[in-house]
Amino acid sequence: MTTGRTVLVTGGNRGIGFSIAEEFIRQGHRVAVTARSGAGPDGSLTVRADVTDAASIDAAFTEIEAALGPVEVVVANAGITRDMLLMRMSDDDFTSVVDTNLSGAFRVVKRASKAMLKARFGRIVLISSVVGLYGSAGQVNYSASKSGLVGLARSVTRELGARGITANVVAPGFIETDMTAKLSETQQADYKRNIPAGRFATPGEVARVVTWLAGDDAAYISGAVIPVDGGLGMGH
Ligand code: NAD
Repeated sequence: MTTGRTVLVTGGNRGIGFSIAEEFIRQGHRVAVTARSGAGPDGSLTVRADVTDAASIDAAFTEIEAALGPVEVVVANAGITRDMLLMRMSDDDFTSVVDTNLSGAFRVVKRASKAMLKARFGRIVLISSVVGLYGSAGQVNYSASKSGLVGLARSVTRELGARGITANVVAPGFIETDMTAKLSETQQADYKRNIPAGRFATPGEVARVVTWLAGDDAAYISGAVIPVDGGLGMGH
């Protein structure tokens, strides 16, 4: 990938986002992360932003533009879960997850597109999940928000594809993060039985797919859903 791009990763203070930011830095890019608390990896610029608030996103972009230049690569990674069976899921359980995971990505992509159109270059990567297309009991809100990202990326591809901008979705399966570490040994073994690879992925395995998608070798890939799930979601 052409080095020295300006990259923004939302939710880059921990987990997968932190690892994505680290990988871009390792490859020689200027990296900013948004965080509601804490900070991104060494070498990154941390800005405060809440993806449910368009004004805070605008302020974060303005700060990044002043420090690192216009954002050329944006990774919409910030996300939450609020799992509940359908019958017990409240309106708020549903809308808050959609507002963060899907509307949040929309707000970030919309703000990023301004400078990308001007530069006639942009790489947009949306972090979805295997359950976006596979479905998941107890995750109606999360799954709906994550499949919505596919429509978002594909519509952006049709709208902005001729302007040097690509938009793709990465759909991770089970990743070794704080979330999966909390599962009991039996639960972990149960999940692993259903994963053809027989193991969870490391955050770095997601990060290196994201940096590849943002790079020159993936310039002709747009509107794609790239699974990083050890085969769990095959065919979906
Ligand atoms: P995590 O909870 O460790 O990190 C999520 C990040 O999003 C945090 O930095 C958090 O502060 C940020 N965030 C949440 N709400 C926000 C808001 N309103 N505004 C700004 N930032 C906000 O989770 P993770 O496991 O690293 O997941 C990262 C992404 O990958 C998420 O979109 C998640 O849905 C997706 N994902 C994770 C897994 C997994 O196994 N961990 C699997 C598939 C997909």
